Amino acid sequence: MKIINCFNIFLLALIFLTIPAALSQEPTPEMLKAKEFFSNAGIPGDKWKEGETMQPHVAPAAHHSASLLYYPNTEELQEDEVRVIFMGSTYYPTQSQSGMSILVQLGNGENFVFDLGIGSLRNYNSMRIPFNTIDHVFFTHLHMDHMSDLPYFMMFRPIQSGWTPLNIYGPSGSEPRYGITHMVEHMMEMTAWHQDSFHAWPIGEGYNPKVHEFDFMDEGGTAYEANGVKIIHWPTSHTKDGATSYRLDWKGRSICYTGDNRPNSLTIKYCGGVDMLISEVQTATVSLTSQALGMPPAIAAYTVDTSHTPAYGLGYICEKTQPKVCVATHYSYEDVFNTETVAEVRHHFKGAFAFGAPDLVTFNLHGKGKVWWREGVAADSAQIPLPVFKTETITFPAPRHQVYDVINDTVEANEIPMEKWYPKGHKPERVKEWPLMEDVTIPNPFKRSEK
Ligand SMILES: [Zn+2]
Ligand SMILES: [Zn+2]
Repeated sequence: MKIINCFNIFLLALIFLTIPAALSQEPTPEMLKAKEFFSNAGIPGDKWKEGETMQPHVAPAAHHSASLLYYPNTEELQEDEVRVIFMGSTYYPTQSQSGMSILVQLGNGENFVFDLGIGSLRNYNSMRIPFNTIDHVFFTHLHMDHMSDLPYFMMFRPIQSGWTPLNIYGPSGSEPRYGITHMVEHMMEMTAWHQDSFHAWPIGEGYNPKVHEFDFMDEGGTAYEANGVKIIHWPTSHTKDGATSYRLDWKGRSICYTGDNRPNSLTIKYCGGVDMLISEVQTATVSLTSQALGMPPAIAAYTVDTSHTPAYGLGYICEKTQPKVCVATHYSYEDVFNTETVAEVRHHFKGAFAFGAPDLVTFNLHGKGKVWWREGVAADSAQIPLPVFKTETITFPAPRHQVYDVINDTVEANEIPMEKWYPKGHKPERVKEWPLMEDVTIPNPFKRSEK
C-alpha cells in the first residue's frame, strides 16, 4: 500500500512538472502546419480558382440567419443592404409561380415594387409585407401578366391602412390611350362601385393614386429620384410601343430589370457592371417548348422571335454587361428545361447566373459588393401581416359616408334583425355607423407591428 502511494505521488509530481514544460514549449513545425491547415483548409485565397462561375463576390453574409433559405422577418437588413424578392416570376400563373412582380427592399426601410402580375399579391402576404409599406409601384408595360393584381392592390391597400396616395410609374404609349395615365384613370372607373362601397371605411387618400407617366422614348430619363435612390428608364421593343426597362441605383448598389423585350442594345449601354441584371428569358427550343406548354409552334416561334429574349440573347447581354449576377425570370421554371436554358446562357456568359424563379427566390446585395441568393420560404397558410406604423399615434381618416347611406331602405328592410339570430345578450350593441365623420387620432394599437 505504501509503495503504491509513493508511486502515485511520483506520477503526480511528474505530471505537474511536465505540463507547464509542454505548454511553454516552442511549437514544432508539424504543429504549425496543422494549425495552418485547420485555419485555412478549404479557403482558396490566391491558391486556386473556386468553381466555374461562382466568383469571390458570390457569398452569404454572417447575419443571414439561414444561408440556403430566406425565412421572412428573420433578418434585419443592414443599412446599405438590398433585398430583392421575386413575388412573381412568370406569365401563366401556376401553383408555384405567379405573374411578374419584384420587390426591392432597401436598408433604409424603403420598398419599391416592379410590376404586379396575376397572383403575386398572395406572396406579399406570405412574405409578411404589409400593403401599407408599399408606396411606389413601377410598371415595365401593361400586359396583364405584369399588372393584373394592381386593381385589387389599389382597392385593398387602404383597408390595410394604406391611406396615402399610391405612386404609380410607367411609360406613355404611341397615343394617350396607351399610356399608364389612361390605364389608371380607367382602372379607377372600373372600380367605381368598389370604391364607393369602401368609402364607408377610412380610405383617406388611398383611392387618389399619383400617376407618374414618363415619355416611353426617353432614353435614360429619370423615372424617380429621392433619398439617394435613382431609377432611370429606356425604351425597349416588346409587342408594341410603350414597353420600358429600368435601372435602380442606391448607395453603390445597382439593379437592372428589363421587363419583356427583344435583346436591346440600350440594356448594354445602361446596365454595364450592375450588381443584378434581371431579364426575361425563353428557352430556345420552340418546338419542344410548344409541345410541353401546349402552344402551337407557329405561335410560339412568332411570339419569341418578335417579342422575347431567348437564353442565347440573355447570355450575350450578360457577357457584354458583366453583372455580378445575371438573373433569368419571366420563365416557366421546369427541371426539364432548366439545364438547357443554362447551357444557352453559358454559350456566351461565364459568370454567376441564377433563375429569378420560381416565386419567392430572394437575392441580397450586401457587404463590399457581395451578392447571394436563396430559396424563399413561405408557410403553406398565410395571414395578412399587421400594418406598420412608425408613429406613436395613428389617425383614421374620416369615411365619406356611412354604409347604409348607399343601401336603399327596401334592401335594408330585408335584412333579418340580429336579435333573431344572435344568442340572447350575446351582442348588446350594434356598431351600425362609423362614430365620427371626421379624422380621429388614437394611440397606435399595433403594439406587435412587424418591421
Ligand atoms: Zn410578360
Ligand atoms: Zn409582355
